[in-house]
Amino acid sequence: MALTAKEIRSVNQLLLRWYVKSARPLKIRERSDPYSVLIVEVMAQQTQISRVDQLAERFLSRFPTLAALAKAETADVLEAWRGLGYNRRALSLHRAAQAAHAAGGLPATHEELQLLPGIGPYTARAVAAIAFGGSEIPVDVNIARVVQRLTGEAKLTPKPLQAAANAFGAELKANEAGAWAQAAMDLANAHCRASTPDCDSCPLRSVCHSAGRVAAPPPRKVGAAPRFSSTRRWLRGRLLDELRDAGAAGVKLRGARGEHDA
Ligand code: SF4
Repeated sequence: MALTAKEIRSVNQLLLRWYVKSARPLKIRERSDPYSVLIVEVMAQQTQISRVDQLAERFLSRFPTLAALAKAETADVLEAWRGLGYNRRALSLHRAAQAAHAAGGLPATHEELQLLPGIGPYTARAVAAIAFGGSEIPVDVNIARVVQRLTGEAKLTPKPLQAAANAFGAELKANEAGAWAQAAMDLANAHCRASTPDCDSCPLRSVCHSAGRVAAPPPRKVGAAPRFSSTRRWLRGRLLDELRDAGAAGVKLRGARGEHDA
């Protein structure tokens, strides 16, 4: 159900207050320039934030500016991406940097950011909110869970979900939406977990419409999941590692690898 403006303001106040004391100690959050925020947000799409925290500095020292990344060779970008997985993101990020650099820099609004190659609604809103003071809340799977539980509306489709998240943004002061999103992420990790929510010690318990009433998740289907080493994703990663290691010398990609025949 829609929260009243008073309830929303209470959520915002409790969440931001909790975040000041309990934010995860991430080095990457010390950077708030648009280029660094873009890099970190793209990395964090499918990689754990603790791993991004370890690896983002290496990438940013290799390519410290939008111009440096835009002018880099693709092979160098893939080399700097080593350890992050899902290498397609590195290629999209490279193309986005080239497009933004050619246009004179990263745009400030989520609508314009979303026009860059490979930048989706979540990343665009995250960069706009954290780096440019945008007021729209970025919604990924974690923030969606928090918003849906706070409002007691379990199955919102993307548009109403974004509207419900933006209702929190509308009651924030200027430049607070980025911190709100990071706080909600940390809350999703510390308390509002998908299958084991810890409502008892959640700072939002008094204002949450689902406190203590989150339905148990359906039992996981126990099936024969393929071994990772038998998947195409595993094979792609190994082949790319070999190509990275070989550099300009190149490599013969014939022969079996893991559970994959020649
Ligand atoms: S009270 Fe429970 S359901 Fe509500 S936000 Fe906190 S952990 Fe999530």
